[in-house]
Amino acid sequence: MARIEEYIPIVGQPIVDDLRLLAERLKGKAIQNINSTSVGGGVAEILHRIVPLLKELGVDARWDLIKGGEQFFDVTKKFHNALHGMPTEISQKDFDTFLDTSRSNIEEVSIYGDVVFIHDPQPVALIKKKKENKWVWRCHIDVSEPNQKVWEFLRGFIDGYDAAVFSAPAFSQRLPIRQFLISPSIDPLSDKNKELPQEAIDSVLIKYGIPKDKPIITQISRFDRLKDPLGVIEVYKQVKRYSDCRLILAGGGASDDPEGMEVLSEVKEAAKDDADIHILLLPQNDIEINALQRASTVILQKSIKEGFGLTVAEALWKAKPVVASHVGGIPLQITHKYSGLLCHSIEGASFAVKQLLNSPDYARRLGESGREHIKNNFLITRHLRDYMLLFLSLYHTEDIVYL
Ligand code: UDP
Repeated sequence: MARIEEYIPIVGQPIVDDLRLLAERLKGKAIQNINSTSVGGGVAEILHRIVPLLKELGVDARWDLIKGGEQFFDVTKKFHNALHGMPTEISQKDFDTFLDTSRSNIEEVSIYGDVVFIHDPQPVALIKKKKENKWVWRCHIDVSEPNQKVWEFLRGFIDGYDAAVFSAPAFSQRLPIRQFLISPSIDPLSDKNKELPQEAIDSVLIKYGIPKDKPIITQISRFDRLKDPLGVIEVYKQVKRYSDCRLILAGGGASDDPEGMEVLSEVKEAAKDDADIHILLLPQNDIEINALQRASTVILQKSIKEGFGLTVAEALWKAKPVVASHVGGIPLQITHKYSGLLCHSIEGASFAVKQLLNSPDYARRLGESGREHIKNNFLITRHLRDYMLLFLSLYHTEDIVYL
């Protein structure tokens, strides 16, 4: 894993010096991160990098998981969809299941953090263990239009925290506690994002039987309806009428996402009979994802709802032209016609992809601007700084801190 010095050539010495100064101020404080899965999805992706780097900087950061069975994760997936504003039926039984599993986690999870940093709704009820320490709820979901029944239920826990963190201004909610806006980030030196030799890229294409004979359009995402994989196939079909191309739809599962297999079979059904559509159920393998992104001509992120969309940042960092929906945190990353193309529909997305396939120079310019934007705003060094400022500010409750 990359050491902190290795970021200096990318972001500059002063940024890394600042991180060391902030870490010094946090000496003696244990930061306990808690979420519900160590693999799959953006939260795990970020924690796998943030926690070791904080440690290297001298901060006592750790990461624990709650436990949950199939029924619990069925319910929390429903909560996830409902918080994203999707029509979802939630019954009293669902709330009871959530509370039952929460009760056993409250008994089993040991809390030792001076700062307890809870990620997303699954572990939110652990707040019942709050004593003198500081508790922060980190929401990675686009809660700009949440289902009120679920939101009010969760509010019963959230209001007990010292602070809440959201990824984008539009997601903040009226709450009686302090709120911080901190967008996620990517790690430029991780296996997911580091430079790769062409042979490594080619070998992944060979492994999955994808010829390099045509432009490749790719969406990397969990098989989740909110990522609109069926819409992606429709976009590809519309593009294909004018420009010959291949489509890669690749994703693995997350252990806290039970819907994946059902969505995958719908996707396979929609793609059958077309040998130029490559549906890949990937093992957790960052180099392979990196290679597929780098092998692509255009990256698509056709989400219906999106907390932030790390896959967009990953693609832009690789200077790829991206077509993505104007939802959630994506417009923070893409300024339309400057660092990518935003779309509002299948037709809009296919028009944008055709435009990029027909104008390679334009596509290259968008990708380069995108990379610069990610470099300036969404790399892990900025994220480490924001988190450390957040932790420090919990001990200065009289001051207003702007991150
Ligand atoms: N990802 C992965 N394997 C997959 C699908 C996705 O490692 O099969 C990664 C992807 O590269 C990104 C993260 O998981 O880093 C997904 O984060 P994003 O914010 O795009 O979406 P989320 O899954 O959190 O809704």
